[in-house]
Amino acid sequence: MLKLISKIFSKKASDKKTRKPSLQAIQPKSLDNLFEKHFNESSYFKEGTFDTVIKHLRHEIDLNKSGEKLTAEEKKSLGLNSRLSITSDLVAVLSESGLNLLNPKEALKQVYYRATFEANRIENFNKMLSAGIEQATYTSCGDERDCEWCKANNGVKFKVSEALNTEINQGCTCDWNRGFFKAEINF
Ligand SMILES: [Zn+2]
Repeated sequence: MLKLISKIFSKKASDKKTRKPSLQAIQPKSLDNLFEKHFNESSYFKEGTFDTVIKHLRHEIDLNKSGEKLTAEEKKSLGLNSRLSITSDLVAVLSESGLNLLNPKEALKQVYYRATFEANRIENFNKMLSAGIEQATYTSCGDERDCEWCKANNGVKFKVSEALNTEINQGCTCDWNRGFFKAEINF
């Protein structure tokens, strides 16, 4: 057994010498950190509500179900669509612009998907980088919900890097980025 282990380690060590320097991996972020980042970037929540919102994002509570369902009168006074089913617990965390959404539940969904999709993207990029893949081609979702950045960059080849992740965060104005990066493998 020991022999086998030392064999594996010595093999790895010699591999390192022959391989070209490894590509710079992207600093992984925890999902909680990404929830916090995208919550802070959202204008749909009241200040100081993150401690409650993160419990929803972690599926520990459900703000769409907890609290009281708003009565027609209450909805009217908040200027909400009377047919919308919405709870007092959700209303308590939303800012005015969150309440002004066509469907205010989208505010929670947006933070959740922005964070989880970014976590997946970083993981995907790091897998490519650790395999020595430096470039990837972007494919947008291709439907009517694609933003200008997604439309303009469909089919474009990018260098896989932290900067690319940042560019998507800053450039893509979709509710959350639904595009896909295909690794470019040069044989
Ligand atoms: Zn987009």
